[in-house]
Amino acid sequence: MQTHFTTEQLNDPVIARADSILRACVHCGFCTATCPTFVLTGDERDSPRGRIWMMRELLENPESVSADTGFHLDRCLGCLSCTTTCPSGVDYPHLLDIGRAKMAEQVRRPWGERLMRRMLARIIPHAGRFHIMMRLARVGRLFRWAMPAAMRRMLDKVPTAIPARIDPVGARDAVYPADTESEPVRRVAMLAGCASRALEPDINAASIRLLNRLGVEVRVYAQIHCCGALAHHIGETEQADTSVHKAVARWHDALTNGEVDAIITNASGCGTMVKDYGDMLQHDPAWAAKAAAVSAASFDISEVLAQCDWTASFTHPAAKANADAVAKTRLAYHSACSLQHGQNIHGLPKRLLQQAGFTVVEPRDGHLCCGSAGVYNILQPDMADGLKSRKLDTLHATGAAAVAAGNIGCITQLNAPDVPVRHTIQFLDWATGGAKPF
Ligand code: SF4
Ligand code: SF4
Repeated sequence: MQTHFTTEQLNDPVIARADSILRACVHCGFCTATCPTFVLTGDERDSPRGRIWMMRELLENPESVSADTGFHLDRCLGCLSCTTTCPSGVDYPHLLDIGRAKMAEQVRRPWGERLMRRMLARIIPHAGRFHIMMRLARVGRLFRWAMPAAMRRMLDKVPTAIPARIDPVGARDAVYPADTESEPVRRVAMLAGCASRALEPDINAASIRLLNRLGVEVRVYAQIHCCGALAHHIGETEQADTSVHKAVARWHDALTNGEVDAIITNASGCGTMVKDYGDMLQHDPAWAAKAAAVSAASFDISEVLAQCDWTASFTHPAAKANADAVAKTRLAYHSACSLQHGQNIHGLPKRLLQQAGFTVVEPRDGHLCCGSAGVYNILQPDMADGLKSRKLDTLHATGAAAVAAGNIGCITQLNAPDVPVRHTIQFLDWATGGAKPF
């Protein structure tokens, strides 16, 4: 794509980067077919190609930008399906970051929207606050009739089934030793996470049980309660920066003093963010090297599990007791966008499930987002509901008894009594002797 930035504009390294991304796009349109928002609306402005075009206009002539650009940029899920499809290697995610930041400078959102974004960024990344908010929502539902439409839609997105208490993992620094009398096969730091601790405490517990069984020691650092992704994606930059710097500082210390040899995440949205820390802080001389080291040592939990020896875990009496039920269970694997597109991990979790004895099938259009995308389902409820309903139809069509997914956002978005959606790790925990997760 041709660009027409002035020399002065190109002196800004951010614009120079945007320029090189934009120039990589040959406008072929291959990405449109795999973009969930274009699939729903058929509007070029809701496609990656259309958004790239609008971002070029925005960055070249910021003063002439219209609210229409912001509307269509906001409707982008950030699912990165377009990045997987693009034959030219267009770095859409970083262009989107640049485009959205420029948009925020040019157009001030209405106060109600700013308030909602700020509130979400202040509540959801804190498990305790989020848990309280979900409990208050129960009371709020009694007065639903008296609320404005926007508030009602938001209330409808708050899960109704709430755990009695938040996950204790992550409340304080802790070391979970490997189930082995010899030295652990490796030592990892695990991000306990924020929203997932309030929504599904068993995910961290199952992750620790499984890793310990496989001879891995797990450490959790309480000061890293959030990776910063949620705040980053809704434009609360200062808050995101604080979370990122905190995490980089603590994990870098742990890596350099030999406490751990890797950092793992069990929410793929967080994993994508942590793997990007190096890119985010590359221009900060005080932090660039540390952030790059943290990103290089970061893995999705499935990547670490794939390197472990499972023999003893499958022959353990507790695993053998579950083997029949596991072998009779047909699972649908829902590939979270942040895992398949954000981290390029698709076949690995599925292979682990098959190796554990499950029959695993995939839904049609597995590359399309379920509509969760962080808080997208709250901010863009109509689009998110359309994608959710498409995804549920394809999952039902598989005839599977349950669904495995590697991201808490998708789990919360899709979970329903007739479609039990659980984390891949919870199924692997079951296959190695843990409780049945559904
Ligand atoms: S597939 Fe890649 S090169 Fe083609 S229009 Fe989309 S982003 Fe541009
Ligand atoms: S990130 Fe997803 S929603 Fe956004 S343009 Fe790309 S494919 Fe479409």
